[in-house]
Amino acid sequence: MTGRAVRKVVIAGGGTAGWMVAAALAKNLGTLLEITLVESDAIGTVGVGESTIPTARRFHELIGLDERDFVQATQASFKLGIAFENWAREGDRYFHSFGVTGRSTWMADFHHIWLQAREMGVAGEFGEYCLELQAAEANRFRSGADTPLNYAYHLDATAYGTFLRGFAEPLGVRRVEGKIAEVRLDPESGYIDSLVLEDGQAIAGDLFVDCTGFRGLLIEETLETGYEDWTHWLATDSALAVQTEATAPARPYTRAIAHHAGWQWQIPLQSRVGNGLVYCSRFFSDDEARAKLAERVDGEMITEPRLIRFRTGARRKTWNRNCVAIGLASGFVEPLESTSIHLIMIAVTRLMQMFPFDGVFDAVIKRFNDVSRSEIEAIRDFIILHYHLNERDEPFWKQCREMDIPPSLAQRIELFREGAVAYQASDELFRLDSWVQVMLGQRLQPQSHHAMGRMMQAGQLQNALASLAGNIRETVSNLPEHQQFLSQYCRS
Ligand code: FAD
Repeated sequence: MTGRAVRKVVIAGGGTAGWMVAAALAKNLGTLLEITLVESDAIGTVGVGESTIPTARRFHELIGLDERDFVQATQASFKLGIAFENWAREGDRYFHSFGVTGRSTWMADFHHIWLQAREMGVAGEFGEYCLELQAAEANRFRSGADTPLNYAYHLDATAYGTFLRGFAEPLGVRRVEGKIAEVRLDPESGYIDSLVLEDGQAIAGDLFVDCTGFRGLLIEETLETGYEDWTHWLATDSALAVQTEATAPARPYTRAIAHHAGWQWQIPLQSRVGNGLVYCSRFFSDDEARAKLAERVDGEMITEPRLIRFRTGARRKTWNRNCVAIGLASGFVEPLESTSIHLIMIAVTRLMQMFPFDGVFDAVIKRFNDVSRSEIEAIRDFIILHYHLNERDEPFWKQCREMDIPPSLAQRIELFREGAVAYQASDELFRLDSWVQVMLGQRLQPQSHHAMGRMMQAGQLQNALASLAGNIRETVSNLPEHQQFLSQYCRS
């Protein structure tokens, strides 16, 4: 530990993580801190990360960002969930929406009642009872107090960084352009003392936030913190990203389309579409992936496809000495459920809550690391679920099905298989609704369920479900087309 007061914060890196951290610290603790951000135009950013989850809205509220300004500046569209195509089997399609499905009671969650109704032959599709899902399928959307849709955004990653920079600099963040050539340590404490740029300029600080991306220039290359590799569970290690012209109105959802050794994303923005092919290089060469991507994108490519390598896993500690790693520097679970930007947001929120104003103390560091670890592990398990529960024939998918999975996930699968029991653990991001949608979508069939639904006659159950679905259909029919709403929203 060091009892040295923390006033000077130095953020290394100006990607989405660096500027989110800068914006949040400046807005909320700006009068107590001196904040400097160092970024290198020559190195650039990872340039992807365009699909978010609803917690992004909470982050924007926390820092006081105006939604309309944000949507205009980042070419954003609205997102109600993700459509998963070809996952358990070729030809399958299911939706993981941000909504709540049906109405649960204190005794049994809605899916138990739905399973009973299905057994009696009186249930519609599970998704018929979720407003967000139906709105997404109908390409309809409206935000505002009178429409209680739970939503997130698709955004242009580069524009988002620029937008956050425009927000943070007037709040006092000093931006320094240049390449960090050396990370200097205090010889006595082993703490980081300063960043030395290629031009010789030294930037001293009390606390350093490592947002330098995958390389983790401070946390790994300097402090050698270590990385826990999870590629035995999540084997994809490459992505080819390309932008295309939009050929149709923007849909209010992301598409995640499985292929023989990974999956493809489609993220619609206002004026273009973000596309990517995620794959495992042991089963698919870069050249094959390039050809497949060209074949599968809809519109004209407006950028060159860009190859990105990654390794799924987590830094052993995200806070080490006086360095906190946030963003890709802290770890990465592949982008299937768009969780990385969320992890940045909760990391910087926690940093503000546990900020070491009067010195860096070991117990605080430990708590920060423990919570960060349990959050990313829960996300990891949820992503593995999509891969593991499959019935596909290709070697990649066979390996995913047959691999050992973390005991925490194995237990969840067993619970659902045996008695349709699903839950959200405390501090866990994904709600029960998310787990149920994905488990059913990946064809996990429960062998039994809660008997509460049996207390109703089939006719009663049928009427109750029909009325639920009818109300949802009516609400959806009164919503505007997503693209139309978006155009008006940006104009007004
Ligand atoms: P980077 O963008 O890599 O930024 C690193 C910064 O450090 C840059 O400014 C760079 O210039 C600077 N830097 C590095 N070295 C030096 C140096 N020596 N001197 C000075 N500066 C330096 N997340 C989501 O939430 N949703 C998604 O849909 C999603 N899709 C993804 C798809 C792929 C294929 C990948 C790989 C990631 C995806 N992510 C997604 C994750 C998301 O892209 C990142 O979480 C986000 O962009 C934050 O990145 P970063 O700021 O940590 O790193």
